[in-house]
Amino acid sequence: MTSLFESVELAPRDPILGLNEQYNADARTGKVNLGVGVYYDDQGRLPLLESVSKAETARIEAHAARGYLPMEGIAGYNKGAQTLLFGADSPIISSGRALTAQALGGTGALKIGADFLKALLPNAKVVISNPSWENHRALFERAGFPVETYAYYDAATHGLDFPGMLASLRALPAQTIVILHACCHNPTGVDPTFEQWQEIVQIVKENKLVPFLDIAYQGFGDGLEEDASVVRLFAQQDLTMLVSSSFSKSFSLYGERVGALTLVTSSKDESVRVLSQLKRIIRTNYSNPPTHGGTVVSTVLNTPELYTLWTTELAGMRERIRTMRVQLVEKLKAHGVTQNFDFVLDQRGMFSYSGLTSQQVDRLRDEHAIYAVSSGRICVAALNSRNIDYVAKAIASVLTA
Ligand code: PLP
Repeated sequence: MTSLFESVELAPRDPILGLNEQYNADARTGKVNLGVGVYYDDQGRLPLLESVSKAETARIEAHAARGYLPMEGIAGYNKGAQTLLFGADSPIISSGRALTAQALGGTGALKIGADFLKALLPNAKVVISNPSWENHRALFERAGFPVETYAYYDAATHGLDFPGMLASLRALPAQTIVILHACCHNPTGVDPTFEQWQEIVQIVKENKLVPFLDIAYQGFGDGLEEDASVVRLFAQQDLTMLVSSSFSKSFSLYGERVGALTLVTSSKDESVRVLSQLKRIIRTNYSNPPTHGGTVVSTVLNTPELYTLWTTELAGMRERIRTMRVQLVEKLKAHGVTQNFDFVLDQRGMFSYSGLTSQQVDRLRDEHAIYAVSSGRICVAALNSRNIDYVAKAIASVLTA
């Protein structure tokens, strides 16, 4: 048979999903997967939040019909997403300068934002941090943009290459689309300080760059309000911008595809026009978003008791990660590591660029059944009171031997 697909080549395996496959196939007991990008609780389980469970119960008991949602999704969900970003009393919201569309996770928000920008700025390029979440490059390239990087991580200090970042941004032509991680940078865990962000936003403004903020871990850094401070800083500068929100991690609703794209415009009238174009992009991609996850998130965000419960649960996740950071650093010292790992305490969010080399990562896998990304990224949220000592001891052994 002659096949249309004969010439199709096998695509390379996704590096992180490929790692999960290897981990699942590993028969050794006590194996640990630090390669994941999800939050596990202290029992090593993916949590179902009580706030989410209560909202789901209410939804099931309501026996609601499943009609199509509007293209932009549930109004209460979108309002809730805006409030998380800008704060309840924000003039950006009251003046109608923000418009939001419920999206298929943070990824879906980035994608409809990318398609919108491609129609608006067909000759622009996109810049992402070096390194960045690996899907940023692929997603914007797939949307038709050339993608370059700006300096970000300094391996020598395990911190931010701030002078390099400023120099990269200063060199960009007007209308370059700059993807910025608003908090809890993935994969490094290294965020600019607020003072550094103030300098960054000035360059963005002066050079007429197009900021596209990605906020996938709001609540995992210093708190819901604190983690929104960069979004609010940009919003206060009278800049037009895009923001992709993901609730996958903060609601532990990975498979429900809960995210949102928010655009800040210069007027209410402009918002109406922009939303009408965004709806065309949604219509030709997937028509309208699914109901279940959006309804659950909207219920939690708009029901005061559930909202309070959710913020407490989110704080619990954030604090557990912080405890794991402290314990990892202490236990590495206790197991004889002399290198300074205090940078792990300064990093924010679920990840840490640990500084482990790819050879050390291979040894962790081969000798100790501990899986991490070859860049040395570890998911601190996959550590728990049962595996942390084992992991610290294993890291010590690959560092010292
Ligand atoms: N942006 C960043 C920086 C991420 O780390 C992730 C998920 O890992 C996403 C976006 C996508 O989130 P979602 O799973 O909601 O599509």
